[in-house]
Amino acid sequence: MAGLTLERVNKRFGSTQVIDDVSMQIDDGEFIVFVGPSGCGKSTLLRLIAGLESITHGDLMIDDQRVNNLTPPERGIGMVFQSYALYPHMSVYDNIAFGLKLAKQEKQTVDERARHTAKLLQLDGLLERLPKALSGGQRQRVAIGRAMAREPKILLFDEPLSNLDAALRVQTRNEIARLHERLGSTMIYVTHDQVEAMTLADRIVVLNAGHVEQIGTPRELYERPASRFVAGFIGSPK
Ligand code: ADP
Ligand code: MG
Repeated sequence: MAGLTLERVNKRFGSTQVIDDVSMQIDDGEFIVFVGPSGCGKSTLLRLIAGLESITHGDLMIDDQRVNNLTPPERGIGMVFQSYALYPHMSVYDNIAFGLKLAKQEKQTVDERARHTAKLLQLDGLLERLPKALSGGQRQRVAIGRAMAREPKILLFDEPLSNLDAALRVQTRNEIARLHERLGSTMIYVTHDQVEAMTLADRIVVLNAGHVEQIGTPRELYERPASRFVAGFIGSPK
């Protein structure tokens, strides 16, 4: 578990300001959801936090340590993407264990952690299967397992459910909520789905054109939206 602080974080691609002076404080174990329209900078902000893009200026701190210059593995962050590229020739077990083997963990530790992770995600009956023999929801759980197995202090999710059909989305969303309860890790979750945001979040960050419109609990945003933009985004059905 770890807390996270963003202090006036900016990102420019060439002359385009994509992230504009974003500041926030995220507590240990919090479930934070980023929402906002397509192109507002949600994925870029996650990638800055993960270390997949460099911050143009501003500071990113994890547990009070400035991490701007640390590589992704050094930051102790795991990330799950929308398109979950599993290794097609590897079993569920090997997909989950892969990152642990790369990290040169001992064989017994790899085995214990991979099995424990699979169990948490209810994949323990499917360890020998290849990805092509899994449903979309099962595949996405393997992708989550792969990110979790290294026990990152912070887990990032970028629209992880958008490729699933409606029923699987609800089921997988509930699994992610249960996972958060059991692990207690800090999670940051990007979605453009208001219902997902309202059900999962401890606090929601509403982004608009690269800046923060409002940060608050689902209830605060619903009852006291700071702008018409927030009201429209939180209140209106999809
Ligand atoms: P979202 O995830 O909210 O849809 P993104 O973070 O993907 O938004 O993109 C925010 C803006 O930054 C968009 O205008 C996008 O075109 C731009 N952008 C993202 N990545 C790059 C890049 N590597 N180079 C140039 N522009 C980029
Ligand atoms: Mg995106």
